[in-house]
Amino acid sequence: MSGDLQHCVDFLQQLIRTLSLPGHEGELASLVANEMRDLGYDEVRIDEVGNVLGRIEGRGQAPDLMFNTHLDHVDVGDPAGWPHPPFGGEIHGDRVWGRGAVDIKGPMAAQVVGVARLLKGERPPGDVWVTAVVQEEIGGVGARHLAETLPTPIVVVGEPSHNTLRRGHRGRTELVAHISGRSVHASVPERGVNPLFALGLFLGGLETLEMPNDPDLGPSTVAPTLLRTDQTSANVVPGEVWQTCDWRNIPGQSGEDARHMLQAVAAQVLAENPAHAESEIDVVIPVIERRTYTGLDRPIPGANPAYILPADHPAVVAAEDICREVLKEERPTGVWQFATDGGHFAEAGMAPVGFGPGDEFLAHTVNEHIEISTLEESMAVNEALARKLASEAS
Ligand SMILES: [Zn+2]
Repeated sequence: MSGDLQHCVDFLQQLIRTLSLPGHEGELASLVANEMRDLGYDEVRIDEVGNVLGRIEGRGQAPDLMFNTHLDHVDVGDPAGWPHPPFGGEIHGDRVWGRGAVDIKGPMAAQVVGVARLLKGERPPGDVWVTAVVQEEIGGVGARHLAETLPTPIVVVGEPSHNTLRRGHRGRTELVAHISGRSVHASVPERGVNPLFALGLFLGGLETLEMPNDPDLGPSTVAPTLLRTDQTSANVVPGEVWQTCDWRNIPGQSGEDARHMLQAVAAQVLAENPAHAESEIDVVIPVIERRTYTGLDRPIPGANPAYILPADHPAVVAAEDICREVLKEERPTGVWQFATDGGHFAEAGMAPVGFGPGDEFLAHTVNEHIEISTLEESMAVNEALARKLASEAS
């Protein structure tokens, strides 16, 4: 194992052993910042929402370039369900195991250590930032803040992609349909208005809703997920129900557009069924107040934007050239199935280019692990992107 691959693996093990659930990333942020200082980054700081930013100074001949991952991870569930301890960072064969191995501490280690190679030899054409943000998993507080404070023209998003390039994904919007009726004793239902019947009509309308299609990302989709009523007793007709819907929107369709479509479905089914005229359906995008580990409160709407870069976007073409040169083979550029912080960056006018090691389908599972050999490859590509992407894409 090369010196800095060993370094990368050691660092990844430390990252996995340091818990960092959303809102509790402080200890991990210090670990990442200290690692950047030890590696010799020219500037390292933690911003007001708790994001870590490391900078390597360039020659001033190209725009700044950003590398990005996130500090937080999803919960592990019952640790007994894991083949290896989720916070052990154990190595078995060529694999490092644990929560965050692919989403996203493995890719983070490959960025932090890989990009640090620029500190030896010639400096890059422009400044290179390596950033790790808070609360990606719960709405993107960190990325939304970073997109405002450090909007570089291009950002390399390190979500796992099998070391292939990604140029977009659908967005995710959480919508809640609130349906009101009139609660009564369940023995005399005719005296009330049961909102569950209106909900049935609404869900029927959803199932047959025509969705727009994107040539690269496929159609928007909607899935009813959580259902809640205002009652806890089985012998009471509810007065209110809340139906949560998970909407995956294609580029060009905002969360607000999705909300309008659902509200239109509601209006139509109620108009077509006069028996339910007393029910009301109101569709909203909930806003949740999120607190960062630094103590700031930020209202975050449940909407993560979609984005797609055209196949001939200069950042995509330049990244493909650089990858081909390092990997000595052609790997098709794809799209992600899931949403990332890239949507927030794209909304701010930045071009997010996806590239990270690891199998994306192991993210959020009990089998999460990453192959050490992919870390080496990822570091080599990150180093090359850091050296060339900002100048070759401009
Ligand atoms: Zn992730």
